[in-house]
Amino acid sequence: MSITAPWQLIPDFVKLSIAPQGILNPPTNENRLFKELMTLQSDFLVIGGGILGLSIARELHRSFHGSKVILIEKEDHCGAHASGRNSGVLHAGFYYTADSLKARFTRDGNRALTEYCESHGLKINKCGKLVVAQNESELPVLDELMKRAMKNGVDLRAIDQKEAESIEPRVKTCKRALFSPTTSSVDPEEVMTCLQEDVQTQGVTVRLGVRYLKRTSGGILTTAGEYKARYIINCAGLYADAIGRDFGFSKHYRVLPFKGLYLYSNEPPKSLRTHIYPVPDLRNPFLGVHFTITAKGAIKIGPTAAPAFWREQYKGTDNFNASELMEILFRQAGLLFSSDFDFKRLAWEEIQKYSRSHLVSLASKLLRGVRKNQFTKWGPAGIRAQLLDLRGKKLEMDFVMENDDYSMHILNAVSPAFTCAFPFAEYVRQKIETLMK
Ligand SMILES: Cc1cc2nc3c(=O)[nH]c(=O)nc-3n(C[C@H](O)[C@H](O)[C@H](O)COP(=O)(O)OP(=O)(O)OC[C@H]3O[C@@H](n4cnc5c(N)ncnc54)[C@H](O)[C@@H]3O)c2cc1C
Repeated sequence: MSITAPWQLIPDFVKLSIAPQGILNPPTNENRLFKELMTLQSDFLVIGGGILGLSIARELHRSFHGSKVILIEKEDHCGAHASGRNSGVLHAGFYYTADSLKARFTRDGNRALTEYCESHGLKINKCGKLVVAQNESELPVLDELMKRAMKNGVDLRAIDQKEAESIEPRVKTCKRALFSPTTSSVDPEEVMTCLQEDVQTQGVTVRLGVRYLKRTSGGILTTAGEYKARYIINCAGLYADAIGRDFGFSKHYRVLPFKGLYLYSNEPPKSLRTHIYPVPDLRNPFLGVHFTITAKGAIKIGPTAAPAFWREQYKGTDNFNASELMEILFRQAGLLFSSDFDFKRLAWEEIQKYSRSHLVSLASKLLRGVRKNQFTKWGPAGIRAQLLDLRGKKLEMDFVMENDDYSMHILNAVSPAFTCAFPFAEYVRQKIETLMK
């Protein structure tokens, strides 16, 4: 007959707290240890298992030697939202002004993630990218992008129409174009799976299916009990603003969800040699309809960036949330009347892209021989967590984070945060180090 030892009756999530305590919060006496038995105690607690949550957890565990880091993720795997549903383009870092966080992190992140993929044997398609002008009025934007690239130390080449055609014979451009040799694509799901395994192997505790519910006096309540930590980092993507408010932050911000869809081409891989993008509207956080070549060589056009009506509105009524619907409708209606940007025009332009003919006709401005019957299959949707500043009614274009000496909230993990993740995690770690001195 087997005898059950008393400790075997303790549920798993409580047992974890009996493990050696982290360096930042050593137990000082028995009373304290007893109290800690009731909760999961760690040095660092990360909320959200997207690319930012995993990268930050990895960085903290490496830098604070011996620290205990726990990451909670509400889904049954990491990367179930934006990080696993994006285009997988490793951007180069020439769209943004050199004084922005995005410019620096994109440049450095491109190198870091390229090295990571190569050293872990993950797919990477180093196909480069052309930025093309549709008419003469767009040429000054090419010049502006070139200036930004030079200031930010990014390799970008100004080329003429002939050179552009030697890179991609079907390309359409007016007189000139830009070529970015370091833009590439990876498979975001493959990267996320590898990073999750890596982070766990290194000693970070990843708790899947555990949802943050609310803040408690000394920690947070989740669907798997209470967690306490010396420092909490909120990387909850579409829900980062709501969690931030529980901690007294994000007072002037709301996340607005924008849905991104792509149409896949039935042309064989290698029918297109490089990514092709239009010149962007620099006042707008989205890059316009473009051709992307995936890590496996498939060709797709898009994305749309149409306002969604609840945060995880991927398909039909999936994940429907009435209170989110009310709040988002209220915000969108407010923006129709007044905003720092032309929300009415943006929303109308984006909604039209749900029409296959319209999306294909926009793409055909960039490339010859584009036909509607080549583009028949929509890919899975991804949703951008775009932060709105309620004071100026403007869409935030750069990373936004708020913090104190107990918690940090990544409120605008704006595209291309997938590319930016590793240097961004270093930046967060340095900030936390300074706070803890
Ligand atoms: C269509 C599209 C295309 C894009 N293309 C590119 C691109 O080509 N290149 C690029 O660099 N970037 C791209 N991006 C941007 C990039 O994907 C995101 O900026 C990045 O993935 C954000 O990462 P994250 O970790 O902040 O968010 P997420 O990946 O959304 O992670 C947040 C996590 O928090 C979890 N969470 C939320 N609430 C809770 C809770 N209460 N409790 C526990 N866990 C919770 C969620 O389940 C989720 O896993 C694109 C985005 C979209 C939508």
